[in-house]
Amino acid sequence: EVARAALERLVVDVPDFPEPGVVFKDITPLLADHDGLTAVVAALAEAGRDGDGTPVVDKVVGMEARGFILAAPVALALGAGFVPVRKAGKLPREAHAVSYALEYAEATLELHRDAIAPGERVLLVDDVLATGGTVRATRELVAACGGTPVGVSVLMELGFLAGREVVGDLPVHSIAVI
Ligand code: 5GP
Repeated sequence: EVARAALERLVVDVPDFPEPGVVFKDITPLLADHDGLTAVVAALAEAGRDGDGTPVVDKVVGMEARGFILAAPVALALGAGFVPVRKAGKLPREAHAVSYALEYAEATLELHRDAIAPGERVLLVDDVLATGGTVRATRELVAACGGTPVGVSVLMELGFLAGREVVGDLPVHSIAVI
């Protein structure tokens, strides 16, 4: 469909970035293309609608940093609010924190405690699902606020990393599995 074609045309593979052996998916040419951006935002938002097309989420959470760019227009499309999940130390007020293991280190993500009200339904949005650690930590942060994650919507899922298994029983919607 249109969104998948936009990804194929506009996402650039960058070998050996940020380190040797990694092929980085650069989405900036996609973001710079109005038709491509429109198509992928509409496709990402589908995960926040029921079978009739009615929005079913109260908040859309975007993960720093590329998730911010995509989650905000998805929130507008769904009549929902946008909430950022940030790396440690960036949020100015009281926040929940969750740490998780990276290959050689640890990362911490944070979410303002009052950003999501108990019972609110939440869609998670990011550009790439890789190992799944980011989504799993974000899911825990939403739960710590009392919110209910209803799904995760990404542009691309790196299938060989099996991140979907790490995410658990949360439905994963990806425009393309690579
Ligand atoms: P994970 O926690 O699933 O291993 O990694 C996902 C996070 O890393 C996402 O926030 C995503 O932005 C970033 N990421 C990992 N690999 C890539 C990539 O190839 N391209 C882009 N644009 N982001 C990536």
